[in-house]
Amino acid sequence: MAYYNSNFNSLKENYLFIDIAKKIKQYQSENPDKTLIRMGIGDVTLPLAPVVVEALKKGADEMGQKETFKGYEDSGKGYMFLREAISKYYKSFGANVYPDEILISDGAKSDCGNIVDIFSEKNVVLVTDPAYPVYVDSNIMSGKKIIYASSNEENGFAAMPDKNVDCDIIYLCSPNNPTGSVYTKEQLEEWVNYARDMRAIIIFDAAYEAFIQDDSLPRSIYTIKGARECAIEICSLSKTAGFTGMRCGYTVIPNELCAYTVDFEGASVSSLWSRRQGSKFNGVAYPIQCAAAAVFTKEGIKQTRENIAYYMENARIMTETCDELGIKYTGGKNSPYIWLKCPNGMGSWEFFDFLLNEIQVVGTPGEGFGPNGKGWFRLTAFGSRENTMEAMSRLKNLLKK
Ligand code: PLP
Repeated sequence: MAYYNSNFNSLKENYLFIDIAKKIKQYQSENPDKTLIRMGIGDVTLPLAPVVVEALKKGADEMGQKETFKGYEDSGKGYMFLREAISKYYKSFGANVYPDEILISDGAKSDCGNIVDIFSEKNVVLVTDPAYPVYVDSNIMSGKKIIYASSNEENGFAAMPDKNVDCDIIYLCSPNNPTGSVYTKEQLEEWVNYARDMRAIIIFDAAYEAFIQDDSLPRSIYTIKGARECAIEICSLSKTAGFTGMRCGYTVIPNELCAYTVDFEGASVSSLWSRRQGSKFNGVAYPIQCAAAAVFTKEGIKQTRENIAYYMENARIMTETCDELGIKYTGGKNSPYIWLKCPNGMGSWEFFDFLLNEIQVVGTPGEGFGPNGKGWFRLTAFGSRENTMEAMSRLKNLLKK
């Protein structure tokens, strides 16, 4: 008899976006003449930058020539040309990360989920609430105890550590999905000091670092003193460079980072992760890695930042609308997400239905990201300018009534 992993019984029945898709499908079947504006799902819409496409094609051409064809990549960690490019990029904003500490993957979601494999089920895992769902789901699947740090209106949806609470693994995401909040240097210093006191490890999700406009805000946890001894950083090209359909990300594990046995015997986290990836992962396609390396060239940074500037202008239009309507929100300034308080005391799903039925705008109910999202709502800036303007104009008309 095959026994299934009964930890799956503890997962929430349905993934948030499946519930949303069902509601949309039903609405569309009942209202076939209405056009929806989707501001819910966090997928990019602009095409790849030309310099990236060129590198992708060149990589593909090389695969078609006997002299330059490539099979498995030897190290399994990703091509050195890409790891060196990423290391150089870190240096450009003052973080020391060496090429041998960077492992290329098919994206941040896989790494955020798979990293649980290297940690004992004894660990208590701290997740901020609300959070990107993979942190919670992957730890539930592997049977770990999860506790929550509250992100809420009072702390600007930037949860801070409580020295009286013990934990071993900490998930932080900044700029945050879903709340758009960004930790300041001082706030991250507090987390790093807390983690070091606990001998805990921070898993820092920097998937949205490229959206930071204010240079005083940290793009990487490694800009914080002491972080190399207590943090893993996971990043992605999905939002930075429109790679959601390309699949490429990277995880940074400093050589000095250790995890422990109950007898305080240290083990290199980097070796554990390499061992895990060596057993279960065979690398990212060569042309994709060529395209990824192009993102970090001078021209690549320029072109991909032009796309980000487009999204950030959408975000500006959205926050301006919220300001005009007196709606409270976080995000939108250094993040593509606008996290707003549902007006008139409405619940998240109530506001979702209200916007869908009245103005055919689709967002994401905050409570899908955790209990603290109740009464809050996420809009994304990844749509077209035209749709963003139209959605905001409909919202103004609706709420000014
Ligand atoms: N981390 C966060 C916070 C995200 O919001 C997302 C995607 O939405 C990811 C990671 C996943 O990125 P990838 O496409 O690289 O798997």
